[in-house]
Amino acid sequence: MNEYDIVIVGAGPGGSTAAKEAAEKGLKTIFFERGRKPGEKNSSGCGLGPRMWRDFDVMKEIGPEVCPSIREGRAARNYFVNEEGEVTGYIMTTPTASVTYEPAKSWITLNCYRSDFDPWLSQYAVDAGAELKTSTLVTGLIREDGKVVGVIDEKGEKYRGFVIGADGAVSMVAQQAGLRKRWKQEEVTIVPQYDFECSPSKIDDIMGDEALAVWWSAVFPAAYQVFFNGGFHIGLGNWMTWWDKNPMYYLNRVISLKYFKRLVRILDAKPREFQAHLLPWQGKPYNTHTDNVILVGDAGGFPCPLEAEGIYPAMITARAAIETAADALSEGDTSKEFLMLYDKKWKATSVGEEFTAGPELASIWRALPFSPHKTMSWFIPMFMEIIGGIIDWSEPHAVRIRQIARRLKTYLPQAVPFIMKEVIPLLTTVLGEDKMELLTDPEKLLTEMPEIQEALTKAFMDAPEEE
Ligand SMILES: Cc1cc2nc3c(=O)[nH]c(=O)nc-3n(C[C@H](O)[C@H](O)[C@H](O)COP(=O)(O)OP(=O)(O)OC[C@H]3O[C@@H](n4cnc5c(N)ncnc54)[C@H](O)[C@@H]3O)c2cc1C
Repeated sequence: MNEYDIVIVGAGPGGSTAAKEAAEKGLKTIFFERGRKPGEKNSSGCGLGPRMWRDFDVMKEIGPEVCPSIREGRAARNYFVNEEGEVTGYIMTTPTASVTYEPAKSWITLNCYRSDFDPWLSQYAVDAGAELKTSTLVTGLIREDGKVVGVIDEKGEKYRGFVIGADGAVSMVAQQAGLRKRWKQEEVTIVPQYDFECSPSKIDDIMGDEALAVWWSAVFPAAYQVFFNGGFHIGLGNWMTWWDKNPMYYLNRVISLKYFKRLVRILDAKPREFQAHLLPWQGKPYNTHTDNVILVGDAGGFPCPLEAEGIYPAMITARAAIETAADALSEGDTSKEFLMLYDKKWKATSVGEEFTAGPELASIWRALPFSPHKTMSWFIPMFMEIIGGIIDWSEPHAVRIRQIARRLKTYLPQAVPFIMKEVIPLLTTVLGEDKMELLTDPEKLLTEMPEIQEALTKAFMDAPEEE
């Protein structure tokens, strides 16, 4: 039996961060990757969030020299697709004035291929002294007296130590440690995507800073498009409980949009690869540890409950896991009771803060962009009426405003229950009950914001019926 302090299954962002932090603490560390190199088996590309630069010094060293596929997503396009499958508008957005730090003020994400990013990150762990074993599938956990004491690989080689499950969405560690069987259908999404190849200069010329796009739609769940240096992804996902047809049917609806096809044509883009991955997406992580085992990243269900950003949470939870494991090893107590410390630690991070409104965030996402037929079918025309209705020369603008108000009134039977069921609970959790009184107590609203009340009443309630 090979003896280590820390044995990590997986060399994705979670595994590599755990390995680096453990080795830097002087712990004898090994991490395993089933691929020939890290990044070979994951979803091929990603957008990296700015919190990574705020919280991990290593990120300041990334650039095109070490990660050639890197491209800044300074701006995002938001396309709106109606029930007829037509793009009825788009809005370009950039980081807004309320953003507080760099680089978040400069860009939304920094995009790159995982085949660049994962090996780059894993090298820091190796440099810190961790041993990386690639092309090695860990097949099981080994137990003594019923307790997990290490892992075994496909060749039967055994490794003893504190186990970190950083083995992604389909985590062998989670299942064999008895932390869960499989994800429940409502906890996991399937995400098919195409990777397209196209020249960096075409992307520069045609997309400019707009290296991100979301296709909000009434005919498919919201699709994302991420541009790298030399290609882009187009993909979409939804919870396993949602699909009424093969996910490919919906992804193919995106790439068949006239607008999308035109984009592909002018970018001279060529499809290169098709991929499909599972991604846990839930309101609250649970069962994250047991005796001598901690789960990090996707294995523990840590992607953001709203947009499923998963790389930063994997790195943050990896750091919390190693701090906990180091304490546990020095105390000589790796029991699940001691490891409750892990929950305390990750809950105190930015990831923990995200999950304080996790159920509400996951619920509104499920009910809005992931409910194309039920919600986006009225939301998109309503939204377009608001942002697009005024740029119209068909009538005097006074008439247009009345027409728009009348039209908006017809959406109230759907919009009001949606606001009550999804928006108010989210705002109540995030802002607190006291601030919400203003929005839910009409009398208070009237005294504190009479102009708004008057304007709303005029626009919605007094608008004459359609002629
Ligand atoms: C299509 C798609 C797009 C995404 N886009 C983004 C994005 O833009 N930004 C973002 O932040 N997040 C994104 N995510 C989420 C993100 O990919 C994950 O949350 C993140 O990779 C989690 O990191 P991890 O280290 O926990 O797991 P992983 O990255 O999955 O790493 C696990 C590693 O363990 C290895 N492994 C698994 N089992 C074994 C085993 N038994 N033995 C040895 N090795 C094993 C795997 O090969 C893999 O390298 C996306 C996910 C998907 C599916």
